[in-house]
Amino acid sequence: MTPAPATAGPAALETLHRVWGYDAFRGEQAAIVERVIGGGDALVLMPTGGGKSLCYQIPAIVRAGTGVVVSPLIALMHDQVSALEAVGVRAAFLNSTQDADQRRRVEQALLDGDLDLLYLAPERLSLESTRTLLDRVIAGPGIALFAIDEAHCVSQWGHDFRPDYLQLSMLHERWPQIPRVALTATATAQTRQEIVSRLELQGAEQFVASFDRPNIQYRIESKNQPLGQLLQLIRTEHPGDAGIVYCLSRASVEKTADALVAAGIEALPYHAGLDAATRSRNQSRFLREDGIVMVATIAFGMGIDKPDVRFVAHLDLPKSVEGYYQETGRAGRDGLPSTAWLAYGLQDVVQQRRMIDEGDGDQAHKRRQSQHLDAMLALCETVQCRRQQLLGYFGQQSEPCGNCDTCLAPPESWDGTVAAQKLLSTVVRLWRERHQRFGAGHLIDILLGKETDRVRQHGHDELTTYGIGTELSDQEWRGVVRQLLAQGLLAVGSDGYGTLVITEASSAVLSGDRTVMLRREAPRPTRASKQKAG
Ligand code: ADP
Ligand code: ZN
Repeated sequence: MTPAPATAGPAALETLHRVWGYDAFRGEQAAIVERVIGGGDALVLMPTGGGKSLCYQIPAIVRAGTGVVVSPLIALMHDQVSALEAVGVRAAFLNSTQDADQRRRVEQALLDGDLDLLYLAPERLSLESTRTLLDRVIAGPGIALFAIDEAHCVSQWGHDFRPDYLQLSMLHERWPQIPRVALTATATAQTRQEIVSRLELQGAEQFVASFDRPNIQYRIESKNQPLGQLLQLIRTEHPGDAGIVYCLSRASVEKTADALVAAGIEALPYHAGLDAATRSRNQSRFLREDGIVMVATIAFGMGIDKPDVRFVAHLDLPKSVEGYYQETGRAGRDGLPSTAWLAYGLQDVVQQRRMIDEGDGDQAHKRRQSQHLDAMLALCETVQCRRQQLLGYFGQQSEPCGNCDTCLAPPESWDGTVAAQKLLSTVVRLWRERHQRFGAGHLIDILLGKETDRVRQHGHDELTTYGIGTELSDQEWRGVVRQLLAQGLLAVGSDGYGTLVITEASSAVLSGDRTVMLRREAPRPTRASKQKAG
């Protein structure tokens, strides 16, 4: 028997029309909704903005009983519930921000069968009182389904691990008869496997949507004057547009937001160091007003549903491709052309390697973080289509997109073997002859033959490599160092000062057995140059 085509039954479609006023399901939504309404488990991998929420909201309404949604986004539960109430869906949440009285009222509504949807913070499920409450609901009005939102949070080595998610396997163990739908926008094969095994979703049907976001133009350029580059992007391509600027630290968030405001751009800061009232005021201004630029750490954005974010800019290197994809995915949910722009430089690589070395966690954890960083660096340094590389990372094959910086202006590569040898041999000499290690800045000063105080003080003008690198500019040398770091031909020393050391792979370069191809740092295209190109 051939399986029936994935059409959503009349009840699902009727709910879509009546409650949300939408004409049709999108992509895999219909098949997912049918699967869950029929009582089966599902694992849904869909990019941000793909429409995951309806995949559990509609079955929750169509099936008897309440749909219980486990979500880590406590700060957003209130907004999510209000949005549902606004379209007439009976929804509520239970989390630690409520007092006992509020919680009691929600529990009563649940027991009375007065809720279509209940949002639950994962830690509430570790309370036996919550478990017995759900037992009573099942014995009474019933539970329609369990939805596990942001399911990648169960992945221990992923970029967003929440320990409370590990216990969610109990849902299946305690209530095997209730269908479960796990949803995430993170889709590497490894994460998927981890979700299946940790949540005991072996019987779940998997729905994997395309991760392509064709309306997003991906661009990555080298960081020279970050603020100037950002202002240029905003002024020439996105004046008056809403956007998000991600920075790594709270201090740089503050500094960048101030600088944008000083330049006449309506920018607001957002990071975990601001008090809750300021954070929520800034967030709601960003959501409700037009053309606000939110300057934020990655604490901002999860679950934010603003359709017309026209650009996402990163002033610091994201720690993983997953993170980069998620953060850039907040641009252009409405399908209109949007920009994902990242500026990254040598310091990013040095700093992140150092953070991994000095950070918490065992060797396996550090190795994993290193792999995440390497994949991110490979995306930054690729001479191929960014989108192809990005989708390939998520296991999806595609053709060059014609709408990313490397497609619009294919980067030239050049033979950087001699340059690499000059740099590496300077590192080797300093160590062998003088037992000294230095960071990139001073090494480049030596190669350029600069007469700095430090050069004089250490007598580095006597080194045989002093002044042998004047064929490249300071900036070009920084590009060489950055790319050698990315290729694993240089490493950051473990002394915590960002000094550079050679690696095992360096010796093949020094002996002339390995050529080093580098990408030339050309001026990157803007949207305007794309239009010119047709
Ligand atoms: P995700 O959770 O995957 O990021 P959402 O569930 O928030 O995405 O949906 C993104 C946007 O798309 C929302 O504004 C939602 O209302 C809208 N949407 C989802 N499904 C449909 C549909 N079938 N037709 C029209 N709009 C939809
Ligand atoms: Zn491309």
